[in-house]
Amino acid sequence: KENVHDKIDYVFKVVVIGDSAVGKTQILSRFAKNAFSFDSKSTIGVEFQTRTATINGKVIKAQIWDTAGQERYRAVTSAYYRGALGAMLVYDITKRQSFDHVARWVDELRAQADSSIVIMLIGNKGDLVDQRVVHAEDAVEFAEEQGLFFSETSALSGENVETAFCKLLEQIHRVVS
Ligand code: GDP
Repeated sequence: KENVHDKIDYVFKVVVIGDSAVGKTQILSRFAKNAFSFDSKSTIGVEFQTRTATINGKVIKAQIWDTAGQERYRAVTSAYYRGALGAMLVYDITKRQSFDHVARWVDELRAQADSSIVIMLIGNKGDLVDQRVVHAEDAVEFAEEQGLFFSETSALSGENVETAFCKLLEQIHRVVS
């Protein structure tokens, strides 16, 4: 339970990246507001959302940034990555191309973000089982090679979203403490 009297121990900036339409905005909205919207672009212009969570007894305020569509033009700027301690790198399990581009996003993170950034690879739209084209094993292998954490989620059903964010925050806490 959270209230205004809780003292905040840490504020962690987290960025959400990945190809357009993989579900970045919806994953963020699921974690920050426990909401999902089929009319997805309602959050355009919103820079970040926050959510407070208690991890290992510490009150952590996650400030989670959304690209607000900039990734369409490959115009995600270095300001977006500045100060980020964690990244959610999202692909769509029903879109092979979005997984093929994950390596490019990792390169971008390595070039632009802090070297100690914790990266969580997310295979989203796990509810679309019949349309799956990316096997979890391929993602696990890639994540192991690159030193990333990995989870499959569904922003629609909410499955694993909370767990994945909390795991990321926990790992960031390990890095900073
Ligand atoms: P973004 O461009 O990466 O921010 O993607 P959005 O969050 O705008 O989502 C793109 C589309 O995918 C929208 O139509 C969403 O409703 C849909 N979507 C997002 N997450 C899920 C999910 O987990 N399952 C399903 N079935 N659809 C999703």
